[in-house]
Amino acid sequence: MSQTPLFGFPFPVGTDKVKDGDDAIAALALQVEEQLSGTGGVVPSSPYRMQVGGATFPSAPTADTGVVVTVTFAAGRFTQIPQPLAQGSSNGYGFTTVAGPSLTQVSIRYYNPTASTPSVPVCFWAAFQMNPSTAPGLEGIGRALLGGERLFTVTCDTDGCANAGIPIPIAYEAMEGEPAIPYVVCGVCERPVTKVTAA
Ligand SMILES: [Zn+2]
Repeated sequence: MSQTPLFGFPFPVGTDKVKDGDDAIAALALQVEEQLSGTGGVVPSSPYRMQVGGATFPSAPTADTGVVVTVTFAAGRFTQIPQPLAQGSSNGYGFTTVAGPSLTQVSIRYYNPTASTPSVPVCFWAAFQMNPSTAPGLEGIGRALLGGERLFTVTCDTDGCANAGIPIPIAYEAMEGEPAIPYVVCGVCERPVTKVTAA
């Protein structure tokens, strides 16, 4: 038997016996399973489900205010509430937070603490679900942020988008000075979602 240089997958060589083929396949299967489970020594634990994307905020935040954009995940992507990350940027000095992640969406906030108005911020975001179950991976933080927010249903209507026509529930809590209706960007086609109804 030999093994592949990167992942250590075993395979038979010319001097191995054909009658031992069942054992060779079993050894390979077990090694693949161990690596996929995240318990193997070569490949670190990788996310069970994840999605990344970009979004543009609805407007530029004036002095000491924030703006919010809600992005929807691909329908059915997550089976547990994922842990989201986001980083916004503009030509000013703001900071970014995430709020209200659920199975279907996350709201991204960009706050401008300065006295001047920067350019309209954009952001990059990523959401991770580490395992089929809730553990481990800080999933509980996302769930804790869900309380007290209004629920809406949004539907992307972009032709050809994988989310088109699929009603997606989102949670949203307006920041001070922000409209009560969420500004939502589809996480698949990255275009604004205009069909928003209160749940
Ligand atoms: Zn879409």
